Amino acid sequence: MSRLVVCCPLWLEARSLRRGLGAAGQVRRTGYGPTRAARAADRLRGDAYRIMAIAGAGGGLAAGQRPGDLVVSTQVSRPGSDRTVTTPSGPLLAGELRRDGLRATAGPVVTSGRLLLRRGQLDRLAAGGALAVDMESAPLLDGAAGRPAVVVRAISDTPQRPLLSPWAVPGGIAALRSLRLAGPALARWAAACAPRQVLLAGPRSFCAGVERAIEIVERVLDRQGPPVYVRKQIVHNKVVVTDLERRGAVFVDELDEVPDGATVVFSAHGVSPEVRREAAGRGLAAIDATCPLVAKVHAEARRFAAEGYQVALIGHAGHEEVEGTLGEAPQAMTLVETVADVARLRPADPGKVAYLMQTTLSTQEASGIADALLERFPAARGPGSDDICYATTNRQLAVRAIADQSDVVLVAGSANSSNSLRLVETAQRAGTPAYLIDGPEDIELGWLAGASVVGLTAGASAPPAVVGQIIDALSGLGPVEVSERVVATESIRFGLPKELKR
Ligand code: SF4
Repeated sequence: MSRLVVCCPLWLEARSLRRGLGAAGQVRRTGYGPTRAARAADRLRGDAYRIMAIAGAGGGLAAGQRPGDLVVSTQVSRPGSDRTVTTPSGPLLAGELRRDGLRATAGPVVTSGRLLLRRGQLDRLAAGGALAVDMESAPLLDGAAGRPAVVVRAISDTPQRPLLSPWAVPGGIAALRSLRLAGPALARWAAACAPRQVLLAGPRSFCAGVERAIEIVERVLDRQGPPVYVRKQIVHNKVVVTDLERRGAVFVDELDEVPDGATVVFSAHGVSPEVRREAAGRGLAAIDATCPLVAKVHAEARRFAAEGYQVALIGHAGHEEVEGTLGEAPQAMTLVETVADVARLRPADPGKVAYLMQTTLSTQEASGIADALLERFPAARGPGSDDICYATTNRQLAVRAIADQSDVVLVAGSANSSNSLRLVETAQRAGTPAYLIDGPEDIELGWLAGASVVGLTAGASAPPAVVGQIIDALSGLGPVEVSERVVATESIRFGLPKELKR
C-alpha cells in the first residue's frame, strides 16, 4: 500500500493525476457525488495508507478566478452543517504549486449535496468565504480518519463561465491540465508529511520599538481616520505593512508624495534631520515613530561629531536606519561595512576616531569589524552602551540555542528586515540550513523532507501570529510537538510620542 492515496471522483481526473504523480502515490477513482464519496470513505477508513489527498475539478467562487486555477483547502465544510474539517497544510501546498508556476490559492472549500447551477446559490457560498465548491470532499475526508489530508480542486467553471455553457469544455480541459501539473507538488507534499518536533526560540518576534511604531500608526488612524501617510515601511515586514494598508495607512517613499498639510509618520528606522526639515518646511504634521534605541545612536553620532571625531558607522549600505544615522552628521561620518573598509579609512586625525553600529547587525560580525577598528586606531571611542539593541542580541542568542538541535531553522521575517536576515545567518553559521519566510506559503516542502526537528523563530518586525500560522501549517503534515528554549525574558516598553499622549 502506497503512503499516499489520491482520491479522484471521476475517471478523467484520476487519469490526469496518475500522469502527474507517477509512482509517488496511488490514485483511486472514488465516484461522482456525495453518496459514492461516503461509500469510498468507508472503504478508505480501514486501509493502510498514511496520507490522503482529494483532487478533482471544482466550481470557482472567488472573484478573479479562471478555469485551471487551483484551490487548495484550508478547511472543508458543508452548507447548513456546523461541522468543518480543517486541512492546515493547505497554504504549504498552495505555495509549492505557485513555485511550480501554477495559479494556486489556499482557502475554504465547501461540499454541496447537489449540483449548484444558480448564480444566487453560488454567491451565497462565496459570501461565506469559500473559494471553491465540489460534491465529494467533505464525505471523502471522513475516510482520512485523522491522517494528513488535503483537497486540491482545479477550477473548471466560475459564476461568469458556468457549467452549462459553451465554456464548460475548455474549462474542463484547463482543469484537467492543472490537475496533471499539480502531481509533482502533491508528491513533495506527501514526502514532507511526518510527525515532527517544533523547537521555538525565545525571545522571538516583535520588539518594543516595533510594537510602539505599529501602535503609533494605529492611534493616528483611530484619531484622524484614513488616509495616514507613513514615510517608508513603518517596520520591515510585509504582513504588518499589508495589514496597516488595509486599515488606511499609505506608505510613501518620499515626502513629496504626501499632500500639503497632511500628517506623516516617520518609520521605526529613523530619518535624517534633512527629512525633518523638509517636513517642517512643507507644513506637514510629523509624528516620529523612530525607535528610541535608534534615536540613541543618532544622539551619539551628533555628540561625537560635535567633539570633532571622525565617526565610523558599522552597518549596511542602503538600509534606512543607516541613511538616517549618516544624515545626522554627514561631514563627520563614514559607513564601514567590512573589515576591508576599516583599512580604507583615512581620518584627518587618527587619534580622534569613534565608531557606532546599526542596531540590527550580527553581534559576531559587528564585533569583528569593531576589533579591526580598535586594532588600527587603539584610541577609537565606541558607544557608551551597545548600539546593537537588546532585541537583536536576544533573538540571535535564542536562534543559536536552537540551531544545533534542529534539522532546519525557519525564520519568520521579510527579505528587507535586517534583523531577520541576521537570524538566518546566525543559524547557518551554526551549521543548520535556515530559511527566511514571510509565512507558511513560503516554506518549500523539500526543506521539510527528512527534517524531524524544525527550529522556528521570528525577526523583531514579524508578528507573533505568523509563528502560530507556521506551526498550524506544519501540524497539517502530521502530529507536531512544540517546545521552547528561552534564553532571555524581555519587559522593555517604550512610551508614545508626546503628540499622541495628549
Ligand atoms: S530591533 Fe531594536 S532598534 Fe530596531 S525597533 Fe526593535 S528595539 Fe528598536
